[in-house]
Amino acid sequence: RAAERIEFVGSFSNWTSMPASRLPEIALFGRSNVGKSSALNCLAGRSRTKVARVSKTPGCTTAINLYRAGNVCTVCDLPGYGFAKRGKELQEEWGRAISDYVAEREQLRVMVAFVDPRHGPKDNDANFFAWLRDFKIKDARLITVATKVDALKPNEVEGRLLELQAAYGLREMPLPFSSVTGAGRSQLWRAIEGAAD
Ligand code: GDP
Repeated sequence: RAAERIEFVGSFSNWTSMPASRLPEIALFGRSNVGKSSALNCLAGRSRTKVARVSKTPGCTTAINLYRAGNVCTVCDLPGYGFAKRGKELQEEWGRAISDYVAEREQLRVMVAFVDPRHGPKDNDANFFAWLRDFKIKDARLITVATKVDALKPNEVEGRLLELQAAYGLREMPLPFSSVTGAGRSQLWRAIEGAAD
């Protein structure tokens, strides 16, 4: 299965230096430390040999990292947003690099946005979804994923997800996901495959 064959392609500072390909591309969004790299490793079915480096320093990843899942799709891991210590200038740079990528990357089909359901709605996530709504997204479709659900009590998961859905004005409830337990892994792959078609 393609999921088991995710390979690192390279790191890029902007979309113009990224190699073109005919495969549909999945882009991963989320604030720093949301659990995006862990989710990618989980999707790839790896625990010991990581495809994505899981960073200990929040916000230290500023490059666009590109991966390839066999002949199925490419996965673009975008830099996390929303860490004040990176400074205003870096935030603006983030905005420019990401806007250009979303606007120009022809093979972009699916945007996966990760949110952390543990602490309630966050301004930087709200800003991100507002930015997405303002943006002219052509063929790409949005899937929102709530990470780290293993850290919640089972009976509070749905309430948290509904709260985020309402706060961020999402059409659907975020997909519950955990890189620790693997919960939501096959559902996310199905959603990605469905949206990439
Ligand atoms: P990124 O910055 O979005 O790529 O986030 P990382 O994948 O580096 O994860 C940030 C932190 O959250 C790390 O300390 C991870 O161990 C932790 N983490 C990631 N996913 C999960 C999860 O599903 N459950 C729990 N409990 N912790 C997680």
